[in-house]
Amino acid sequence: MTKEIATPARTKELLKKYGFSFKKSLGQNFLTDLNILHNIVKAAELDAQTNVIEIGPGMGSLTEFLAKTANQVLAFEIDQRLIEILDETMAPYPNVTVINQDILKADIEKVTKEVFHDALPIKVVANLPYYVTTPIMMYLLTSPLKIDGMTLMMQKEVAERIVAKPGTKAYGTLSIAVQYYMAAQISFIVPKTAFVPQPNVDSAILQLTKREQPLVTVEDESQFFALVKAAFQQRRKTLWNNLINYFGKDEETKERLQSALDFCAIDPQRRGETLSIQEFAALSDQLVKNK
Ligand code: SAM
Repeated sequence: MTKEIATPARTKELLKKYGFSFKKSLGQNFLTDLNILHNIVKAAELDAQTNVIEIGPGMGSLTEFLAKTANQVLAFEIDQRLIEILDETMAPYPNVTVINQDILKADIEKVTKEVFHDALPIKVVANLPYYVTTPIMMYLLTSPLKIDGMTLMMQKEVAERIVAKPGTKAYGTLSIAVQYYMAAQISFIVPKTAFVPQPNVDSAILQLTKREQPLVTVEDESQFFALVKAAFQQRRKTLWNNLINYFGKDEETKERLQSALDFCAIDPQRRGETLSIQEFAALSDQLVKNK
């Protein structure tokens, strides 16, 4: 019987057979730990009534586990050299479709409609390339495609920033951007020894669950995110200094900011990182009202 792709022996054999050399620039760190793969699939809560999108299948180590559990798997792989390897490794799994494309350039809504035969709930499961984790996550979060949940492997430090609470060093624009759309929690930590080649840092599995509604209701989403961005512009500065640097130092703007802060009972001398998402939402709505 053929061994799982993620066993160190089979991985080594495939690398040798195809003369594959890892590209650091594409974030190529392949998982070679069957236990961790089991736990990822468990955390994702997949079943035969779920379709899965994977980003970066590599040689198919995770894809194989997804194929055995889910209904259909759609995998986007940017590296053309991996396609012939995937042709071999995915041959036993007719429910896997591999697309040779940069996920950030793909129309996932369209491709999903073409590939998935049944209108089942869609989940994303991926060991993300480190160099592009945030853009991929933001692309998925803001995509019109209805995604029920995401189980994503990323650098531990990035996962910690995403789940961070107000008043902590890790809390920032990324925490707010993700928590606005989805409930986030770290499922478990993955040591760097689980990969070939070994990355420099440990990873974490982040579990994201779709909220029925965004965490806060705001009048104007772009104003809300602009305000959050402004508040974290320079972390050592007070909220007031960051806001006037971003929105303008003229008297009219200052008055508008001061009156919105007063209305929301937010002390301008606080730092952005102490504001809850609800406080940002209230302040944003007040600024829209006073426009
Ligand atoms: N899933 C495999 C595993 O767990 O062993 C490989 C994971 S590796 C961390 C990331 C994979 O994403 C690589 O195969 C890489 O070529 C691919 N990749 C990098 N950037 C990508 C992009 N923009 N779109 C799609 N795939 C990408």
